[in-house]
Formats: sequence, C-alpha cells, structure tokens
Amino acid sequence: MSRVLIVGAGLTGSLCAHLLKRVRTNQLQIVVWDKARGSGGRMSTSRCPSNPSCTVDLGAQYITVTPDYATKHKSFHDELLARGILAPLTAPVEGMVMTEGSRNFVTPKGVSSIVKHFLKESGAAVFYEHHVTQINLREGKWDVSRKSGSSEQFDVVLLTIPVPQILQLEGDIVNLINENQKQQLEAVSYSSRYALGLFYEAGTQLDVAWAARYITNNPCIRFISIDNKKRNIGSPDVGQSIVVHTSVPFGIEHLESEKEEVQKLILHQLESLMPGLPQPASVKCQKWRYSQVTRPLAECPGQMTLHVKPLLLCGGDGFTHSNFDGCTESALLMMDVLEANL
Ligand code: FAD
Repeated sequence: MSRVLIVGAGLTGSLCAHLLKRVRTNQLQIVVWDKARGSGGRMSTSRCPSNPSCTVDLGAQYITVTPDYATKHKSFHDELLARGILAPLTAPVEGMVMTEGSRNFVTPKGVSSIVKHFLKESGAAVFYEHHVTQINLREGKWDVSRKSGSSEQFDVVLLTIPVPQILQLEGDIVNLINENQKQQLEAVSYSSRYALGLFYEAGTQLDVAWAARYITNNPCIRFISIDNKKRNIGSPDVGQSIVVHTSVPFGIEHLESEKEEVQKLILHQLESLMPGLPQPASVKCQKWRYSQVTRPLAECPGQMTLHVKPLLLCGGDGFTHSNFDGCTESALLMMDVLEANL
C-alpha cells in the first residue's frame, strides 16, 4: 500500500483526492493535510458565529464555464449540477462582463460545498491544522514535518498550495528544486485583496435591486454581493449576508495593516456606497494575500515535477489560471504524471 499525501484541502487538493480514488484505489492510501481548520482554501464559506445557517462566501463567488471547458470538463460540471452543488446563476449582477458562450453557476450551499463534495467522494483521510513546514528525503520516502506533531512518511507528495507557500517550505525540498524551476516558480504572481463578510439577523431587510455589483469608481471596494440572493437561497429563519471584495490596489496598500483598521476603512466606504445599510450582527474580515493568479507558471503546464522517485509534484491555479476549470485542469495533469510514475 503506497501512502500519498496531498498538501492543501482547497479545490485542487480535493480534486486530486477525488481523481486518485479512480487510480489503483486498493493500492493507495490517500491522506490530505491542511493548515486551516476546515476545507475550501480560497473557496471558503464562513458561518455567522451566532447563527451557523447564515453563511457567506469570502473567496470565489461564482463558477464561470467557458465553451471549451464546457466540453472538456463536462463530467465534473454535470456531477456537481446533478447533486445540486452547482445551479445556474439567475440573479442580476450589475457590471458583469460575460464572454460569448460562457455560463455562470452559483453554489446554493456555499462555494466550499464543491471542495467538501470531492473530499467526501474520495474517502481520503483529511487532517486539519496540519501545517507542513519541511519535506525531507529519507530512505526513498518523503518525510513530511508539520508545525506541531511528529513527521510522517509518504511514498508520493502532491503540493496544491499557492506557489509562494511552496517556496517557503524547508528541508531537502529546497535543494531538490533546481535553479531553472526556482526561477520559474518565483516568477508566478498573485493579486492581494481583502474580503468582508457581513451577517444579519433574520428579518433584517436589505432593499437593493441587484444580487451583486461590480464597483468601478471607489478607492477601496471592487465588488459587493448580497450573498444569499446571489446564491438564490433564502428562509425567514436565516439572516441575509453580504460579501465585499476590495480592489487589488487597496489590498496591496494595506497588506500589512491591522485587520481592525482595514475593516473600519472598508465599512466606511461601504456606507458611502450603500447609505442606510442596517447594522450587521457580526462582521468577518479576511485577508487574501494570495488571491488570484496574475502571472501563472510559464506556458501553464498545470503542474511541475520536482522529483520523480519518490514522486513530488506541485500544482494548483498558479500552474494554470484562477478558477474552477484552471484547478480541474491542474489536477488532471497532476494525475497524468502520477499514473505514469506509479
Ligand atoms: P487554495 O484554495 O489556496 O488551497 C490551498 C490550501 O492549502 C489552503 O486550504 C491552505 O490553507 C493550504 N495550505 C497552504 N500552505 C499550507 C501548508 N504549508 N501546509 C498545509 N496546508 C497549507 N475562482 C472562481 O472560479 N470564481 C470566482 O468568482 C473566483 N473569485 C475569487 C475571489 C477571491 C477573493 C479569491 C481569493 C479567489 C477567487 N477565485 C475565483 C479563485 C479560486 O478561489 C482559486 O483559483 C481556487 O480556489 C484555488 O484553489 P487551490 O486548491 O489551487 O488553492
């Protein structure tokens, strides 16, 4: 039985786990480690502390399927649609730019339900609060260390974490990445932005005509969504929620600022854009240091093979592009390399 470790329980990691199940399943033990307390990564869904059924998507907002991927990844889209995890986006989004032939989908149960679905289907053993710090080569296996707890040995390691976080790992991995690979990885860049989630008490009315809106003339805010309306859900017992995304220049300018200060600045700008907005029951501020990929790995190969025997691969949106199909493409290409080397 070979042990495979997937580092990262975001979309790419969950898809790798799901796809691995189809590969010599009785010969592989699939383990997933994530440093966070739950799954989703940048496809995360947050709950209101006082009413867990009130949720907000702080990262990815909707899934856009372009015509070429509609064919190429049809089985993934169909599976999620059949299970009600994806549903067509029908609510009005002001300022949305659509490319011809593309379709948009929302996630009624929150965007993390996509990741949770693939993890559950995979049957992988998933461990949270497992922050990988070092990867060393010991007697033909990968010895993987984490921030707390003992290291463990694996036959294959798949890294599905943002590229700058791959470059922060210590141990033998540092010398295994050759100079050319290092240069390529260092050239990958991401935007940074903040997200604010506002949770309301049940019964609070938010009287706006749109479900989401792109903002073009504000120094701080780029996108606002009445999240439950965008996802086409609602119940009298559950409060509404709003998500606000800042612009990238604002995110970069305030990257090292105190979160409380940033939250105040965003709320102040929100009040100017939506005067008279009721007081939320709770607010969550999220910093996305690595938000969306602005420069992927050259030629978008979907993955990079850092070592063959034992196998060490890395992938994710940094190797393609930042959306559902970019992560799917990366996971599929990682599986091709894995199958060829098992
Ligand atoms: P991630 O989701 O980043 O997952 C990586 C995981 O690795 C994380 O869970 C992290 O906790 C974990 N990790 C990191 N380092 C370590 C470590 N050392 N040890 C253990 N675990 C570690 N996409 C769309 O399709 N539509 C959208 O509308 C959209 N909007 C977006 C808006 C925002 C604000 C953001 C931030 C992203 C958006 N995206 C959107 C992009 C999309 O969310 C990402 O492309 C996708 O989620 C990336 O998935 P991933 O699994 O590759 O990486």
